[in-house]
Amino acid sequence: MSLTETGCKKVSELYPDVTRIVLFVAFQQAAAGADANYQQIIFTPDSEAAFRLDCSRDACVDGGFDYGPFIDELIKSGESRAHGTIACEGWLVDGENRRRCSLHSEYRIVID
Ligand SMILES: [Zn+2]
Repeated sequence: MSLTETGCKKVSELYPDVTRIVLFVAFQQAAAGADANYQQIIFTPDSEAAFRLDCSRDACVDGGFDYGPFIDELIKSGESRAHGTIACEGWLVDGENRRRCSLHSEYRIVID
């Protein structure tokens, strides 16, 4: 999994008052009951404001998670903490059949 390059703006251009955005994300584990494995991604004013992650399922087509809207909403509301869950909207294709990936991602956002 890697940050998707979008060639977009820097964090400082979008959010001049923000010194740091920390995004914690965990993906639903294949094994039931396995602990969520959070990874931490830190954005500074010089970082590209690329808040989208690829889906962790290799077979997933057109999937991914865009945390940008949550970060945007959080900053505009003047709050500094948020958490929630989103589901991947990509597809798992098996011959003629396709079904939603729906892999869940838990996220936490901390704005400084
Ligand atoms: Zn997916």
